[in-house]
Amino acid sequence: MADHSGLSLDFDTLAVRAGIERSQFNEHSEAMYLTSSFVFDSAAQAAARFSGEEPGNVYARFTNPTVSALQTRLAALEGGEACVATASGMAAILSTVMALLKSGDHIVASQGLFGSTQQLFGNVFSRFGIETTFVPAADIAAYDAAARPNTRLFFVETPSNPLTELVDIAAVAEVAHRHGALLAVDNCFCTPALQRPLALGADLVIHSATKYLDGQGRVLGGAVVGGATLIEEVFRFLRTAGPCLSPFNAWVILKGLETLRIRMEAQSASALALAQWLADQPQVERVYYPGLPSHPQHQLALRQQGSGGAIVSFDVVGGRAAAWQLIDATRLISITANLGDTKTTITHPASTTHGRISAEARAASGIGEGLIRVAVGLESVADLQADLAGLTR
Ligand SMILES: *Cc1c(COP(=O)(O)O)cnc(C)c1O
Repeated sequence: MADHSGLSLDFDTLAVRAGIERSQFNEHSEAMYLTSSFVFDSAAQAAARFSGEEPGNVYARFTNPTVSALQTRLAALEGGEACVATASGMAAILSTVMALLKSGDHIVASQGLFGSTQQLFGNVFSRFGIETTFVPAADIAAYDAAARPNTRLFFVETPSNPLTELVDIAAVAEVAHRHGALLAVDNCFCTPALQRPLALGADLVIHSATKYLDGQGRVLGGAVVGGATLIEEVFRFLRTAGPCLSPFNAWVILKGLETLRIRMEAQSASALALAQWLADQPQVERVYYPGLPSHPQHQLALRQQGSGGAIVSFDVVGGRAAAWQLIDATRLISITANLGDTKTTITHPASTTHGRISAEARAASGIGEGLIRVAVGLESVADLQADLAGLTR
């Protein structure tokens, strides 16, 4: 066993070394344990493992060494005491709320959350007596005003998708704690390479590992990171209800974490270059990117996430027709709603990710017909610029 406990190691070292527990073969790369159950030495040991008296693996719905390795590594990167991995990002959000809230509780959430998260809060939890109030992401006073005596959870995503609006995590943490509630931050877009919400006062970090943690568009996964007591409660829900991560997916994501920081840095640098270039194009009306000084929360972005991240959105002159024309003229960039891949993707939010929302609600949230979102990958910036200019032959 490679024991790093007691050592004080940097992010880059933890990304490749944390969580390794070698088998009797002393393999160097992390082993993948594709097994659903584990064998006991005796009936007495089986009983002790089941009761929790003796730590160890039992059954892969709640214990698997590959999944445990991922949990240890991600907890280390986020600076959390513990982590529980889940089947997807949505499973992470579902498990958190099912484990920590009950009927009659109330959630305050930032507007512009990931579409399925809005559906889960607005159409699913509401049927089980958990109400959600959505507030403008950047308006700290609105979080305070929305809190009720039964508010148990504040839930935010920053930066928002696709308009890159930021939530001041430290300020919302202060509001949540003053009201005796928890703050959960969906850290999907920044990842711990750019932003560590726990250090800013959040109680829980939620991940869709499907995005940048895997980073190469291969598998679905999710995770919840936080203090040991809260994570133990989420783990207990997972153990009983079963939205757990497969060991194969855990292994893929574990290896993805090794390159997370250098990918995020490279993709953010390309996104900044692309955002600067887009701002100079005559057919571009407005660019949304926290790394540009023109972004209304640029100072907060520098403080909270260090760089602008890898997602750039922009409005083109000419509405939907012009936006679709630009998207259809690309030859290299993938037309897909997914993000967090090494391959750059492009999407028209008003007719895809936000197509189910009414036109009025969309307009009110600032998602216009001319809006385009680009999730920047690892291709050369020159090739991406040429493609967006319709010049790739
Ligand atoms: C994709 C995404 C999710 C959901 O994750 P899945 O792995 O697709 O279930 C949640 N939050 C954000 C911000 C996302 O982008």
